[in-house]
Amino acid sequence: MDHDYPRSRASQARQAMTTLSLTDLPLAALGEILGSRTRAHAVRRWLYSCIPVPTYLPDRIDGVAAAGWERLRAATALPQWRLLGRQLAVDGTVKYSMDVAGATIETVFIPAAARSTVCVSSQSGCSRSCGFCATATVGFHRQLKAGEMVLQYLVAQSEAPAHVPARNVVFMGMGEPMDNLDEVMSAVDRLLEPPLPRVGAGHITVSTAGVLPGIKRFLREGRGHLALSLNATTDAAREALMPHNRNWPIGDLLEALREDQRRGSGRYYFVEYVLWEGVNDSEADARRLVTLLDGLDAHVNLIPHNPFEGNPLRPPPPSVVSRFQAVVHSGGVRCLIRQPRGQEIAAACGQLALRRA
Ligand code: SF4
Repeated sequence: MDHDYPRSRASQARQAMTTLSLTDLPLAALGEILGSRTRAHAVRRWLYSCIPVPTYLPDRIDGVAAAGWERLRAATALPQWRLLGRQLAVDGTVKYSMDVAGATIETVFIPAAARSTVCVSSQSGCSRSCGFCATATVGFHRQLKAGEMVLQYLVAQSEAPAHVPARNVVFMGMGEPMDNLDEVMSAVDRLLEPPLPRVGAGHITVSTAGVLPGIKRFLREGRGHLALSLNATTDAAREALMPHNRNWPIGDLLEALREDQRRGSGRYYFVEYVLWEGVNDSEADARRLVTLLDGLDAHVNLIPHNPFEGNPLRPPPPSVVSRFQAVVHSGGVRCLIRQPRGQEIAAACGQLALRRA
């Protein structure tokens, strides 16, 4: 049975329908255009079952009357996109390179039993200058629209094998999500919507290199977990590799997380710590990390650096990584070592730089 939308949503829907692509159109706006929630659901089911993902809207689809579909085609379109490349690593990780309306981006699909992850880019390039990140070397091209982020998930999930469906989304690809926060939060909202893609707020993580104003706003208004790329235990060491730490030092970043914890948001806080040999991998660093995280219910992910051409940083030997983990663990902090995925196709953490094999 069709359900009409309440009038109170109509103006929001009309505004949305004039400006947004189909992958960013809220379900309410879609229903307003089509005249019912049932037809809106039919369009979402069609979109998320297309293999391959279409690059334009066809003349007709099943389950939607011709008049409604014509209204939709007049009001919106799919984002302009085309696949530039698809690279497969031996561990099953897939890196997609795409052109979206003239901007080049990369998206990574990381398979895992029943809970594969899609790593989405929020910008083409990045304007930050983190010294360990290949994306920083390509500069900033442009902000991505929310619909272009959802499109990345759509493309990756459409090709995911049935036994490893894409259930997790991490905003950890190219770009700093907090520098494009309106669009990122809108993309998260679309990913959560029923009937599809309905990812689940507990399966979405937005990562940041530590842009404090965006973090505070995301924690107040956004949905999903937060990952903070910390990577150092003193401000001097962090500034050397992440220059924006001058504006937003470690103490202020962690205080924002503590404040959110005190509010009882129920969010997970992932603290990402990339390890570099002789830079931040000492036992003293591990002990300082424990002290910094005191009182914060955080999960530390240790990431041995993924090398890339032209960068002098190196990962520590495995024994040093294990020792670091043991010290953090013995300090009462949950701590996992993240195994690199897709390293040989430059798809691992910090390697996205539009380089193709
Ligand atoms: S780590 Fe993130 S914020 Fe820093 S340069 Fe890379 S993409 Fe940008």
